[in-house]
Amino acid sequence: MSTYSPNGVRQLPATVNEPVRSYAPGSPERASLQSRLKAMEGDRPDIAVVVNGEEIRRGKATNAVSPHKHQHVTATWHHATADDVRRAIDTGKEAWKEWSEWTWEERAAVFLKAADLLAGPWRDTINAATMLGQSKTVYQSEIDAACEMTDFFRFNVAFARELCAEQPISGPGMWNQSEYRALEGFVYAVTPFNFTAIGGNLPTAPALMGNVVLWKPASSAMLSAWYTLQLLHEAGLPKGVINFVPGDPALISDIALKHRDLAGVHFTGSTGVFNSMWSTIGQNMANYRSYPRIVGETGGKDFILAHPSADVQAFAVACIRGAFEYQGQKCSAASRIYVPKSLWPEVKARMVAMIDEIKMGDVNDFSNFMGAVIDQKAFDRITGYLADAKANATIIAGGKADGSTGWFVGPTLVETKDPNYRLMCEEIFGPILTAYVYDDAKWDETLRVVDATSPYALTGAVFAQDRAAVKQAHAALRHAAGNFYINDKCTGAVVGQQPFGGARASGTNDKAGSKLNLTRWVNARTVKETFVPAKDYKYPHMG
Ligand code: NAD
Repeated sequence: MSTYSPNGVRQLPATVNEPVRSYAPGSPERASLQSRLKAMEGDRPDIAVVVNGEEIRRGKATNAVSPHKHQHVTATWHHATADDVRRAIDTGKEAWKEWSEWTWEERAAVFLKAADLLAGPWRDTINAATMLGQSKTVYQSEIDAACEMTDFFRFNVAFARELCAEQPISGPGMWNQSEYRALEGFVYAVTPFNFTAIGGNLPTAPALMGNVVLWKPASSAMLSAWYTLQLLHEAGLPKGVINFVPGDPALISDIALKHRDLAGVHFTGSTGVFNSMWSTIGQNMANYRSYPRIVGETGGKDFILAHPSADVQAFAVACIRGAFEYQGQKCSAASRIYVPKSLWPEVKARMVAMIDEIKMGDVNDFSNFMGAVIDQKAFDRITGYLADAKANATIIAGGKADGSTGWFVGPTLVETKDPNYRLMCEEIFGPILTAYVYDDAKWDETLRVVDATSPYALTGAVFAQDRAAVKQAHAALRHAAGNFYINDKCTGAVVGQQPFGGARASGTNDKAGSKLNLTRWVNARTVKETFVPAKDYKYPHMG
């Protein structure tokens, strides 16, 4: 590679959030996406392991299906073998030698181009893959796969520039500099099924900073992950910088996490899996070349709390959207609500009316508000919670599930008299919202209950018109959520606007899509140059 590095302190193209398209009837984007959906329903890509640009199809093959139509196969994907994983780590090491030496601007160009490809010619493909493979409605797919992923690519570049511009001061006679080196080794990126954008962000954020990445995608989001990889290659990502290793997570992790060159883990998924990865790393501390950076954004038990002064309609809508969009399968999804006795009859009536109206079905039908939950395992887990609610609480609305053609679970509102009932504490990751009704006089006590009920602290919201109540909740719930909303639903964080991540058992809170996250993928070197060095060892006080 040439070491030519042209002079220039560069500006970036304007960094703005990708506008969300409406897909309203008659709009050109609707017609274009519908024709892409039709074409892709007939496709059945043969998804490979990709190591150093080479497509490998020798491991076990598994079918990926549409959750809303589980007889429909969307793709076949091949599992990485232990050998493939080792080779991916080895070739990554080779790719690192060149990639880590590129200037940040050269790497940035790859991701800025990926952003423009995604916002333009690739938009329909990535949206269609997310709809067919993960059962997102058009709007849920658009805000995730198209807009959030584009935003991650563009904003991370802007944050990388800001980080590189952070330089120390220099006293007279010297020049101090900070150099943001790539980590020595590889970063292991393990991504969840529920956001295509997270699938794109976890491998690319470390890659932007000069690292090489071993990417293990979620088996239930294989279609969108595959197209994301193709998009990155079209944008000019060099071979071997991100190696793609779908397959058995235990087998892949066993090799990756114990490898001497493990430099970092970039994980999003459940708390239990992250804990097990952290503990494997702990047991292998003596083997690593450097201390691995461990970044994990994990589960949630997200709340919405209404004060007696809350606007009832706004609160009810926030609960419906927050709890049931994408079938409640967002880490930020509202899962427990606290409602004062004085408002409950009205809140309940409005929510029941909305739930009765909600349409659920095949996401190819754009009039649906909900699709299916991701797989049989999720269906069984969520219906298990429904059975518990039937036995131990009151189902106010919904409560139905049907797994015959797709894994459909209807939006459900449960009421409990026990603030510590398991549906108030455990992450369900499905469309079940549990309400606890409190005495209006017990606002202070309720704030303490909200704070102490679950081990998680991801998102939360308060609805109140009374400013003093907002101020009080703001303070009392300081550690109960990493993303806190006032008079808004607890989902829908936008890159650059609400940096995302939670505390406690919800993760390391390195705020995906922010400068804080990028700092984890660099190892800063400080360089001091003295122009005229001392020539005498003695100090004046010795005279
Ligand atoms: P998951 O933990 O089941 O899987 C996440 C990834 O980990 C997948 O790629 C999976 O194959 C892999 N994995 C599973 N077992 C593993 C093992 N033993 N070793 C290594 N990797 C393993 O989570 P999911 O069902 O894909 O996603 C849902 C979870 O993710 C929820 O708990 C949700 O709250 C969380 N989530 C959190 C955030 C956040 O920002 N905090 C965002 C999205 C999702």
